[in-house]
Amino acid sequence: MPSPRMSRAKSFPGLPDPLKPAMDRSGRVVHTLPALPYKHFVLEPCIDTGTMHLHHDIYHATSVKRLNDALAEYPELQTLSVEELLLDVNRIPEGTRVAVRSHAGAHLNHSLFWRTMGPANGATGCGTLLAAIDHSFGSFNGFRSQFVEAGVNHVGSGWVWLALSAQRNLQIITTTNHENPIQVGLYPIMGNDLWEHAYFLRYQNRRAEYLERWWKVVNWPEVSRRFIHFLDRLQTPAA
Ligand code: MN
Repeated sequence: MPSPRMSRAKSFPGLPDPLKPAMDRSGRVVHTLPALPYKHFVLEPCIDTGTMHLHHDIYHATSVKRLNDALAEYPELQTLSVEELLLDVNRIPEGTRVAVRSHAGAHLNHSLFWRTMGPANGATGCGTLLAAIDHSFGSFNGFRSQFVEAGVNHVGSGWVWLALSAQRNLQIITTTNHENPIQVGLYPIMGNDLWEHAYFLRYQNRRAEYLERWWKVVNWPEVSRRFIHFLDRLQTPAA
């Protein structure tokens, strides 16, 4: 019996760039690690090269491998996108559900994370996004400080998000472990990783300093693209 929360989540209109599995050379349908869209050193204004290698090449790669391992005995689940797995966890056999949820969530969150960062090039968000941020948070600086505060106050591992509700309201939320906003009926615009592995090498326990410096590497054109995508879908519901 699906919970009300899951029933709501399943009614999502299309998410951009769904993470679909593909056939590998041996003919197995598997999830794959997306290549970083830039060199590992590009995020140095906030994230050191060593952390990027550990985080993308090892941590994220391991999540993808464990997701494939968790799905190995279940051919009927292997062709689903990561989003489909997370939005309908009741179809996943109980014995593997915790593993699939956690590794699929890690794969989705990190894939989104790499794309919404990039070289510090001075680009800003589009006018529509900036106006919506002003409307929801008072000002752009107000938004930034509320986002950092939410991230600092989150206890333990998780993520801090800018997310859009079905009523088109922007919200700042945090999620636990590798939960994604789609699992609570919200559209993820961008998120920052609050796990210690994301910042510990350079910042040790100074999560606030990491969160403050992160603004230097946010890829605002990509964040804007995601916001406009969701806005369009919500204004013109699919038939
Ligand atoms: Mn991470």
